[in-house]
Amino acid sequence: MARLHCERCPWSQDDFWSADYNPIKGVQFWEGNLLKFEQLDQPGTNNAEFIRKHGDMTSRVWIAQQLKKASKLIQDQVFLTPEQTKGQPCPKCGHENLVID
Ligand SMILES: [Zn+2]
Repeated sequence: MARLHCERCPWSQDDFWSADYNPIKGVQFWEGNLLKFEQLDQPGTNNAEFIRKHGDMTSRVWIAQQLKKASKLIQDQVFLTPEQTKGQPCPKCGHENLVID
């Protein structure tokens, strides 16, 4: 995981795209526990890790939030790989120092 950001303005990008790590994979990780029809409107889940990370919400609300978040990440992703950033200015302000943390 890496965060790309500009040294001069607030522009940033949350990670790069890969077949193994992308916003879709984040949702798929919970598929076994959360995408079952009978659980969709049940508050919470019996998965302790989910409750610790996300609180007590229905699967339907959580899935909708995660898909919206994944959609935004995909739409806002300017650079797919770290290599694509080399020599490229900030997409927002044009500053030439993009930093990968
Ligand atoms: Zn910038």
